[in-house]
Amino acid sequence: MHDVDVIVIGAGAAGIAAARRLVLTTRLSVRLLEARDRVGGRAWTLDAAGFPLDLGCGWLHSAEHNEWSAIAQELGFEIDPTPPPWSRRAHEAGFPLAEQDDFAAAWSRFQARVAEAGRAAADRPASELLEPGGRWNPLLDALSSYINGVELDRLSVADFVNYRDSGINWRVVSGYGRLIEAYARGLDVTLNCPVTRIDHSGGMIRVITPRGVVKTRAVILAIPPTVIASEAVRFVPALPQKLAAAHALPLGLADKVFLRVDDPRDLPTAARLFGATDRVATGSYHLRPFGRPLIEGYFGGRLAEELEHAGESGFAAFAIDQIAKQLGADIRKRLHPLAASAWRRDPFAGGSYSYAKVGHSDARGALAAAVDGRLFFAGEACSRHDFSTAHGAYRTGVQAADDAARALSAYSGELGTGSPTRICAT
Ligand SMILES: Cc1cc2nc3c(=O)[nH]c(=O)nc-3n(C[C@H](O)[C@H](O)[C@H](O)COP(=O)(O)OP(=O)(O)OC[C@H]3O[C@@H](n4cnc5c(N)ncnc54)[C@H](O)[C@@H]3O)c2cc1C
Repeated sequence: MHDVDVIVIGAGAAGIAAARRLVLTTRLSVRLLEARDRVGGRAWTLDAAGFPLDLGCGWLHSAEHNEWSAIAQELGFEIDPTPPPWSRRAHEAGFPLAEQDDFAAAWSRFQARVAEAGRAAADRPASELLEPGGRWNPLLDALSSYINGVELDRLSVADFVNYRDSGINWRVVSGYGRLIEAYARGLDVTLNCPVTRIDHSGGMIRVITPRGVVKTRAVILAIPPTVIASEAVRFVPALPQKLAAAHALPLGLADKVFLRVDDPRDLPTAARLFGATDRVATGSYHLRPFGRPLIEGYFGGRLAEELEHAGESGFAAFAIDQIAKQLGADIRKRLHPLAASAWRRDPFAGGSYSYAKVGHSDARGALAAAVDGRLFFAGEACSRHDFSTAHGAYRTGVQAADDAARALSAYSGELGTGSPTRICAT
C-alpha cells in the first residue's frame, strides 16, 4: 500500500463525496479505504427477482436542493417525482378518512408544540410534548421511529428542530444505492480493508489496516459514529472528546422488508397502509412502489430491534400478519418475501441513522470538528441540519474535502461549495 496525500476512510455517501471532490478540485493523491466488499455503506441497492431494492436510503429528501438529484441527472439516472405515500392519504383499510384527518390534526398540533419547545434554552425528550392520554400518541410515536429511528422518549427536541427539509421527495428508479455507487466509479478504492488504528503521533499519519499500513498527510474519517464509539477504530494518541461526541450520537434503527405480490391489480399504486393505528409497534407498508408488484415494509425503533432478534424471517412474518389483518387473509398466499435489512447487526453500520441523545445536540459540531488541521470528519451524523440523510452525508464530505485541501494548501476553490457538477468522465 503506497503512501498518498489524503486517505478517506469509509466509502459511503460522505466518503465518496469527499474523495470525488478532492479529485475534481485538487492534484492531491487520494485513496478510499472501505471495510466492506462494496461501496455505498448505508446506501445499498440489492437486485432481487429483477427489482432494484433500496435496503438503505431510498428517498431524495429536499429533492430540489439535493446534490444527488443533480448527480443523477448528470449520470443519466432516471428520477421518479411521484410524491411519497406519507404526503397523501393512507389506504382506508383500518384507517377511515375521518380518522386520518383527526390524526393529521394531532400531528400538526404536536409539530407546533415541538417547534415552540425548540426555542427554549433547555432540551427535553419530545415525548413530554404528547397530549396526555392522546388517542394518536402511539401512532405519533411510530412515526418518530420511522423518521428518527427512535421513539419520542429518546428524541431530543433541540436536535430535531435543527433538521431542515423542503418537503419535496423523489426517488431514483434504478436505486439510490446504485447512484451513489456510480459516483464512486473510477476513484481509487481499496475494498475489504477495515481500518483499525489511526496513529497521528508523528509527522506523517499512519493508518493501520489488516492489509498493511499507509502513511498519509491527512485523513478524512467518514465512518458511522457507532464505529468510533465502539473503538473498532482507535486513535493514537486518544481523542476523548471525539469519543464522547460519538457516544452522544448513537444510530437509531429503521429496517425494511420487501415482499413480492402476485397479481397486485387490486392494490393501489404508491399508497401507504398502516399495519395498525393504535400501537407504537407497527409497520408502515408502501404498496406497489413505482407501480411494481411489491410491498415495501418499514419498521423503526424498538419494534425493528425486536424483529432483528427474531432473525431473517422475523420482518416478513410480522409484515404478512399485519397486511393480512388489514386486507384480508386471502392475500397471504400472494405475498412472497424477497429481502430484509438488519442494520443493527451490520458491524460496519451498527444502526440506520443518527440521533442526538437528549441534551447533546451540540455533539454534531464536536464530531465534525477537525483535529490538528489533518484529521477531518464527515458522515451524516456530522451534519447540523441534514443529519440522517444521504445528501447530509454528501455535504459533510464536500466540506471535509475542502477543509483538507485548504490545510494542505491545495485548495483551488474552483467549484462552489456543494456543487456536484463537472463530474469527471471516469
Ligand atoms: C433503512 C434506511 C433507510 C434510509 N432512508 C433514507 C432516505 O430515504 N433518504 C436519505 O437521504 N437517507 C436515508 N437513510 C440514511 C442514509 O442511508 C445515510 O444517512 C447515509 O447513507 C450515510 O452515509 P455516510 O457516508 O454518512 O455513512 P455510511 O453509509 O455508513 O458509510 C460509512 C462507510 O464506512 C465504512 N466503514 C465502517 N467502519 C470502517 C472501518 N473500520 N474501516 C473502513 N471503512 C469502514 C462502512 O462500511 C461504510 O461503507 C436511510 C438509512 C437506512 C438504514
